Amino acid sequence: MGGYDQTLEPFLWRAETIYPDREVVARTHEGINRYTYAEYADRTRQLANALDGFGIGEGDRVGTFCWNHDRHFETYFGVPNMGAQLHTINPLLPDKHIQHIVEDASDRLIFLDPSLAEKLGSASDPDAFESVEQFVVVGSTVPDVSLEPLTDYESFVSDQSTEYDWPELSEDDMAGMCYTSGTTGKPKGVEYTQQMMWSHTMAMLTPQALGIEDSDVVMPVVPMFHVNAWGMPFTATAAGAKQVFPGPAPEPADLASLIEEEGVTITAGVPTVWLGLLEYMKENEVDLSSLEQIVIGGAAAPKAVIEQYDEFGVDVIHAWGMTETSPVGTVSRLTPALTDAAFDTKVDKWGKQGLIMPGIEFKVVDDDGSEIPHDGEAFGELLVRGPWVTTEYYERPHANETDFDGSWLRTGDIVTVDDDGYIEIVDRAEDVIKSGGEWISSQELENAIMAHEDVSEAAVIGVDHDRWQERPVAMIVVADDVDREMLTDELKTMLQEEYPKWWLPDGFEFIDEIPKTATGKFSKMDLREQYEGKELLEEDAPADAAPEDD
Ligand code: AMP
Repeated sequence: MGGYDQTLEPFLWRAETIYPDREVVARTHEGINRYTYAEYADRTRQLANALDGFGIGEGDRVGTFCWNHDRHFETYFGVPNMGAQLHTINPLLPDKHIQHIVEDASDRLIFLDPSLAEKLGSASDPDAFESVEQFVVVGSTVPDVSLEPLTDYESFVSDQSTEYDWPELSEDDMAGMCYTSGTTGKPKGVEYTQQMMWSHTMAMLTPQALGIEDSDVVMPVVPMFHVNAWGMPFTATAAGAKQVFPGPAPEPADLASLIEEEGVTITAGVPTVWLGLLEYMKENEVDLSSLEQIVIGGAAAPKAVIEQYDEFGVDVIHAWGMTETSPVGTVSRLTPALTDAAFDTKVDKWGKQGLIMPGIEFKVVDDDGSEIPHDGEAFGELLVRGPWVTTEYYERPHANETDFDGSWLRTGDIVTVDDDGYIEIVDRAEDVIKSGGEWISSQELENAIMAHEDVSEAAVIGVDHDRWQERPVAMIVVADDVDREMLTDELKTMLQEEYPKWWLPDGFEFIDEIPKTATGKFSKMDLREQYEGKELLEEDAPADAAPEDD
């Protein structure tokens, strides 16, 4: 019997005790903020006092609607350490998803960035937001939006005492929550216990994962609303590393200057971000000499990106994960047998999603549930289980029946495993689209398009895209006498009203018929095959298709 619970609080305690002067730096709406772990820890206790004073107690959910910055980071320890549950909300989602998420989670208080206030305001349906008793803007000016009651973060926190006795928590207490919108239907809630976040942090510290050390300078570009920025703020704190937060919607120029000025050694984000930095570096001089590793995940790391960063002496660490896996599950590091391999072989391995992290298990099964051979050819669905893999969705019994097999999570990713143990994603079980690291539901777009009276059938498929990895294209069937140009304009206007700009299809293709399966369902696989290699994207569309634009 260990008799000691695995919770997050000792990570903060250690950082404050051993590394009181190590810095936490943030690019914010108001300029660069800089303080130390000692000051940071005081702020987390002030925040806990403020929440306590407001009446937030153990088990209550506190939402955040924020970019990556120091105040958001204060909620990372401040909220779970006091026994409440930190619910990070993705501001890039369509309004109705945000409504569902807030209603489902019953958040009592929401912290929000001033630049996102308008978005939250437009999503704040009174019924869905009934549970929210207070909005707190993280900035000195309170914007004029319809969020009531509204105060600002400094007024909420800064007069509070820096003393707070963290309660003794159980490792089974809920610490975090994040919704996944990858599959069809409404976003599903994943809850993280203290133990899940503790074990994920410990595994991330190992050299098999990120191997973050106290000498590192860590900059998560992956948003803090995406599964705790892949756990990097917790891992960096556990290590006592310096942390750098790139703030609201960072541009490549912002990232370049933070890397140079703060001496960033390890950073992380979706491929689009790193493609953007490469593009920027064609025109601008950037000193990447401090940078050792870029962690790429959320979508496949293109081999060309791995090779180009290698030329700058930067290792790309390709990782795979899911909201359901807290999130990191595999990391593509070379085994000793491969360290002297030819460069092409290494790039080939780095381009795969990688090796399972120590602590979790996987298996890959075919349609009959039999495990496939690890020969790099046979493929099947990836199933994982382990201490930081969830075994259920929050209040979604139906999804729990289909997406789990006992303690195994069915990932929906179709993979091969080679004889060195490297997992590679080759397909997805469901037809969903990931653009710039963010999900777009093809089914929702199809339903919206088919609601138009002139449309007989519509299917939305993901098409490969250099910058965004995938973009949606609508394949539409109409009667001969329909004016297609007019219909396209009408559809665009209709979709724009309901969905963020980056959800809008980049192509509207009129076809004779959508191929069907034997049971009469749309066969997206056949459709994709039929149109493979055909230019489906409108030329100018992708430029304004950035999730960050919304
Ligand atoms: P999310 O829950 O939004 O983090 O999405 C998880 C899904 O993103 C996975 O099931 C994969 O389909 C996809 N994904 C995550 N990481 C990678 C990667 N490195 N390569 C390809 N797909 C990935």
